[in-house]
Amino acid sequence: MEIDRTILIIEDEESILDILAYALRKEGFRVHGAATGQQGLQLFDGIAPDLVILDLMLPDMTGFDICKRLTVTSNVPILMLTARDDVVDKIIGLELGADDYMTKPFDVREVIARVKVLLRRQQKVSLSSYINITDHIRIEPRSHTVLKDGQAVMLKPKEYELLLLFAQNRNRVFSREEILDTVWDYAYDGDIRTVDVHVQRVRKKLNDPRYPSVIETVFGVGYKMKGE
Ligand code: CA
Repeated sequence: MEIDRTILIIEDEESILDILAYALRKEGFRVHGAATGQQGLQLFDGIAPDLVILDLMLPDMTGFDICKRLTVTSNVPILMLTARDDVVDKIIGLELGADDYMTKPFDVREVIARVKVLLRRQQKVSLSSYINITDHIRIEPRSHTVLKDGQAVMLKPKEYELLLLFAQNRNRVFSREEILDTVWDYAYDGDIRTVDVHVQRVRKKLNDPRYPSVIETVFGVGYKMKGE
């Protein structure tokens, strides 16, 4: 049984969602379903799934858009479902960060087998993969956890994504608009001060006198994280 593994299915066809959810739950997975892209992205932030099953054609956006957004801030395995048996789309899907794809109609057992393969592969990678921010602070992307001196730091989803963005792009200066675009929903009509507030919160939560400013202010431009 797959204990403590959470799978997010983003699929607008209710019958397919139901079949997959039923079969995966029977295998012991925790399953959450979303019928639109927006709902899926929101759920993703809330539940931090171990794997995403993603339909290519959704009513409000394409699976490609979602794929792009998810892979900026996470390395969650993505299994793409597509009704189109189109080679170009398959390649694009994989280039955009999907880890595997299946063409509808599919055999549910085949989907489950692929899910298990992706999770096993991910686990192997994640055992050795974490991102050091300082000697004392590190990110474990697999579990969406930030550890300071071995203790988990409680970050909210957006605070985590913000930190991960900087950690994965050392020395790159991000403007507030860029950060807002990347970390928040593309449709989010937010104030750029939201970014300042979140940066301050992350600094406060990671507060480490040995490294006074994990995320540095670049005056007149934005923020960056210094790299080794
Ligand atoms: Ca669909």
